[in-house]
Amino acid sequence: MTYRCPVCDYAYDEDRGEPREGFPPGTPWSEVPDDWCCPDCGVREKPDFEKA
Ligand SMILES: [Zn+2]
Repeated sequence: MTYRCPVCDYAYDEDRGEPREGFPPGTPWSEVPDDWCCPDCGVREKPDFEKA
């Protein structure tokens, strides 16, 4: 599953994770903390992301 930032083009892919943020590949979205914000724009937080 992929979750997309509503402001920029960033998308979190569970299969790829986000190693630069400390989430290795395969990290499910449910394990990403609610106060995690978009690493690209820094404007939106996890609850704002949309299922892609
Ligand atoms: Zn963003």
